[in-house]
Amino acid sequence: MNVQLVSFGLVLFSGLAAFAQTPSPAEGNGNRTAASVEKRYQAKAPETRPFGAAAFGSSKQTTVRWLGFAGFLINSRGTTLMVDPVLEGFDMPVLIDMPITPKAIPRLDAVLITHGDNDHYSVPTCRNLAPVTRAYHSTLYVDSLMKSIGLPSFGHPIGDQFSVGPVRVTVTPADHAWQNAYPGTSKRLFKPEDCAGFWIETPDGTIWAPGDSRLIAEHHLNRPTPDAIFFDFSDSEWHFGLRNAVKVANAYPDTPLLLCHWGSVDAPDFAPFNGDPRVLSKLIVNPDRIRVLAPGEPFTLKPLKKSR
Ligand SMILES: [Zn+2]
Repeated sequence: MNVQLVSFGLVLFSGLAAFAQTPSPAEGNGNRTAASVEKRYQAKAPETRPFGAAAFGSSKQTTVRWLGFAGFLINSRGTTLMVDPVLEGFDMPVLIDMPITPKAIPRLDAVLITHGDNDHYSVPTCRNLAPVTRAYHSTLYVDSLMKSIGLPSFGHPIGDQFSVGPVRVTVTPADHAWQNAYPGTSKRLFKPEDCAGFWIETPDGTIWAPGDSRLIAEHHLNRPTPDAIFFDFSDSEWHFGLRNAVKVANAYPDTPLLLCHWGSVDAPDFAPFNGDPRVLSKLIVNPDRIRVLAPGEPFTLKPLKKSR
């Protein structure tokens, strides 16, 4: 079965069924009976700030915009990349207005996809970006999915490096092969290297997009200090989980945290989509560096003064 046929709606349903039998503290579902009666609180992203073609133009700096979900646009001195854009066609109700539509995007030098889940690899979005996108980059597995629908894609093993204009990208490891734990999700045995992160070195600083991953302590806690992190802090056992997300944040105590994977999907009982910035801010060192960006809001990347 193609993983793209496995919707998060199905996963949510099957996940809840599994949890009904074996409640998991990691998913924070101890009060499901009440939740089924009264909709639980869900932190929502600030109101979207739509942007247009100018965001893809020439520039003397590096500007980052969260797109909602785990998606970002990077414009580094006129070189444009998107990471995990989901701009249309998601199969669950969403809480946000998208800041731009694929049809309004004039050009992209590259689209980077961390893994095949449809909240990261959006087939509708990637198809509609194809007329304006020079290249797609992902893992070897996701590359095979992309090639099967005719996208100009490149697959990379973990540790591989490639360049997009002045931007140097290194493919970093992730641990997110959740499908293997849910019989019936897929006939395929998923491999660790099917999922990845990206270490993105621009002329104006380094961005780390770790992707969805459980904590790999020797990797995630021992990077050189990045200048910004695309930060997933959802309390899901297939992600860092909140406790380990705090460890990652505190391993780089001055790095701005550009929050993602929160506030976008209407699914109050599904932990991966339910990070709450107010909770995070009480737990980490230097909470002022949390950037609760609205979808579309620009963030200017600046190099940190570093001791290591
Ligand atoms: Zn995800």
